[in-house]
Amino acid sequence: IPGQRFEAGTVIFERGEQGDKAYLIRDGRVEISTDQGGKKVVIANLGPGEVFGELALISHQARTATATAATDTETLVISTERLQAAIDAADPLLQTLLRGNLGRFIWTQRFMLQHAAPKTAETSLEHQAEHDMAVEADIQRAMKSREFELFYQPIIDLRDGRIGGFEALMRWRHPDRGTVSPGEFIGVAEATGQIVAMGAWALEEALDALKRFQAIVDGPGRPPLFMSVNVSGRQLLELEEIDRLGAVLARSGVDPEQIKLEITESLLVDDPMHAAVALQQLREKGVRLAIDDFGTGYSSLSYLHLFPLDTLKIDRSFVSDMVHDPRRERIVRAISGLARDLDLNIIAEGVENDEEMQSLDRFECDYVQGFLLAKPQTAGDIEALLKQ
Ligand code: C2E
Ligand code: CA
Ligand code: CA
Repeated sequence: IPGQRFEAGTVIFERGEQGDKAYLIRDGRVEISTDQGGKKVVIANLGPGEVFGELALISHQARTATATAATDTETLVISTERLQAAIDAADPLLQTLLRGNLGRFIWTQRFMLQHAAPKTAETSLEHQAEHDMAVEADIQRAMKSREFELFYQPIIDLRDGRIGGFEALMRWRHPDRGTVSPGEFIGVAEATGQIVAMGAWALEEALDALKRFQAIVDGPGRPPLFMSVNVSGRQLLELEEIDRLGAVLARSGVDPEQIKLEITESLLVDDPMHAAVALQQLREKGVRLAIDDFGTGYSSLSYLHLFPLDTLKIDRSFVSDMVHDPRRERIVRAISGLARDLDLNIIAEGVENDEEMQSLDRFECDYVQGFLLAKPQTAGDIEALLKQ
């Protein structure tokens, strides 16, 4: 691992910059700071053995704070490639744990930067729980003041090139922070259990929208539009909750055939026996079940027949790497073949360009979803689109 030296006072990186390196301090001290209303706030003072800059590295997002060498400092530099190689080599279980914890950690870190009083590295752990509670309270407030909203991304049926259905995706219209993506709050909501109420709300809301969409496109010879709704594993922990979802479905009056619940692959991996029971109960309500992010959760293909699945969504990462990596392309082709043999529909997600679209055509996918075709948008925008 290469090293790098910084003289006292040197700014190592600045908040807002794009980051692709993390640093391990060998010697010296580094101050991590941000500014609040033009005033510099020191968040942490780090010393030998401590790491900084790793958040931007993992989340591929801009630096959330500024790092300055407080004394002459010697570091080891960890590059994105080096980290990725280490993650790739890790045990799948460890990889899964890393992803879950880091997602939550990145959220609390950001939240701390925006809302918290200054603190030192020594006290930040103590404050962690406090901040989790602050996020929890913010979500609670947001639910009451109806700040959550669903966007809908069209899913295109490759048989006729028309919209076959939609995926409902949550957004948070935050009064101070603007539109917040689910990547920033679903992790916390899952950790606190709030996702259970939010998910039930999302299902109800999405089915309401589906009824309006179906009423617009109601022609002979046109299959009815479907709605895909994401369901967190947390929502399926208690079988009582499955009954509550069943009640929402029944109240909506929507034909359950047109409802797909998207379950992530990790749910099946973490506890296959519970998942089999939970999914069977959902299936008995008549809805269709899709396995989301397929290919990322290290599930064994031999599991698939255990679950009453209808649809397999090939994860975006495969779709976007496929064009440049013949091995991935072969994997996608093999997964598609297996899905067909098991009578599963295939949705390829994250299609961003024509090259990817052409590859997918060859694999006989049933549906495609991605920015190339349509972005997630408000219910109002979808209604206007369907009326065209
Ligand atoms: P997901 O289920 O994999 O949803 C697809 C994500 O890919 C969405 O991100 C969508 O905006 C994005 N996407 C679609 N096409 C493209 C493309 O061509 N390129 C790229 N780069 N991205 C594309 P979004 O809306 O930020 O949602 C992120 C994740 O948050 C979702 O991933 C899902 O796991 C979770 N989520 C969203 N809404 C809900 C919800 O209501 N309940 C639960 N439990 N999770 C939700
Ligand atoms: Ca999904
Ligand atoms: Ca997905």
